[in-house]
Amino acid sequence: MSLEEFSKSHEIVIGLEVHAQLTTDFKLMSPASNRFGKSPNSSVSSVCTGMPGALPVLNQKAIEMAVKTALALHCKIQSPNVFSRKHYFYPDLPKGYQISQYDLPYAKSGRVEFYLEGQKRSVGLQRIHMEEDAGKNLHFGDQGISLVDLNRSSVPLIEIVSEPELRSADEAGAYLRALRRVLRYLEVCDGNMEEGNFRCDANVSIRKQGETRLGTRVELKNINSFRNLERAIQNEALRQWDLLKQDKLVVQETRSWDANENLSRSMRSKEEAADYRYFPEPDLLPLSLSDDWIENRRKALPELPLDRMERFMKDFERSAYDAEVLTSSKQLADYFEEIALPLKDYSLASNFIQTTVLASLQDVEKGLEDFYPDAPALTELLQELKQGKLSLNMAKEVFEEMKTSRQPASKIISEKGLSQVNDDSILRSCVKTVIQNHPAQLEQFKAGKDKLFGFFMGQCQKELKGKGNPATLKALLEEELKQS
Ligand code: ADP
Ligand code: MG
Repeated sequence: MSLEEFSKSHEIVIGLEVHAQLTTDFKLMSPASNRFGKSPNSSVSSVCTGMPGALPVLNQKAIEMAVKTALALHCKIQSPNVFSRKHYFYPDLPKGYQISQYDLPYAKSGRVEFYLEGQKRSVGLQRIHMEEDAGKNLHFGDQGISLVDLNRSSVPLIEIVSEPELRSADEAGAYLRALRRVLRYLEVCDGNMEEGNFRCDANVSIRKQGETRLGTRVELKNINSFRNLERAIQNEALRQWDLLKQDKLVVQETRSWDANENLSRSMRSKEEAADYRYFPEPDLLPLSLSDDWIENRRKALPELPLDRMERFMKDFERSAYDAEVLTSSKQLADYFEEIALPLKDYSLASNFIQTTVLASLQDVEKGLEDFYPDAPALTELLQELKQGKLSLNMAKEVFEEMKTSRQPASKIISEKGLSQVNDDSILRSCVKTVIQNHPAQLEQFKAGKDKLFGFFMGQCQKELKGKGNPATLKALLEEELKQS
């Protein structure tokens, strides 16, 4: 049973629900700090612990971040919007309800745009709403106890809900990456799936090709990486297809993805909205946002990743692929731009960054913060390369040295005596000497053993201690061999 076979007659339909944790200093409804370390229950107030009579107070910074995100995603801001209580019982939720938004969320419609295999795609959003997070249960099986940590209680989240418009695991991955990039450019969310501050549930159904009605969906939870998102979706599509082939029905339910076993397990049958007994939160007024306030937030938006990517394609003549890599983080895009503009050789800057620089960065997001060579220092190095004073290999050697010693290129070049020999007369006399010293190889070369060209090049570079300009040397060697 393969996905390839499946795709001949069926298609996957996916809608994603993404929870993004906002990077505010304080929590959404509580004065407790939102920047806490590991020590459990160290960052809680009476609101987080659900003490009777404790009143929630909205954090304006969280609302600003949420609105900025919605505007960047082309949503319509709804004002007034309303907070509601979503009731359920769980030990990590002492109040017995979560404050969320239900029928009147703060943002509606909107879209996420991205490129997939060079093609531009646009996927609609149903809504974005604000809500508080719940705490966390910690289970210590060997001691037979479970403990509750309320540090996460009332942490501000936004839930971004897509239309069921995604059609493959790859597309879902591209959507999620693009969405994360927007959040990171806006500096409203760290976007780290492994750390749980950017979480994604995938709703998956399948249907025959050409069918317009939606099939029964299954909600997959516990997806903690991009790789797992893609694997979980493919696995679920095949599981549903198998059921249909046996004339069984797909049950609407919530399943938990197990990354180790590479399969999902049923958690519960899908709860209905009525089960949560939603009603408007009586302790918070409906939230009114004036048009002026919203417009000012819109004007203050930075250049967004997709706009920047398209600008790089146009102004710096990059392919969609190159432009996407170079704009994968705001820091990297700034770095490229600060180098490419003064260097005036966009391909050189783009290639050197994508191969050499990115290879030495573990984490592109954080990696550039105190990375050396910084933009001016790398520009200086690439100028030497552009002017032919260094070969590419030499430039890479200098780059490695710059990284560890944090010294400018000029200093390393002069200390190591690393400058390329470009002088035609020096190169030509070296070529002549090498040919004269290897008469046997010359005979064989002339008899048709073309491979020996590399041998002559090698001998010349040996004489020149590897510093001969390779292109000039090659041209001169060809010329001299012909005349010998
Ligand atoms: P809930 O909040 O109960 O999970 P929603 O109606 O808000 O339900 O839908 C959540 C997500 O499910 C949305 O992203 C939506 O696009 C997606 N979805 C709805 N129906 C389907 C379906 N038949 N197949 C795939 N995804 C679906
Ligand atoms: Mg859901």
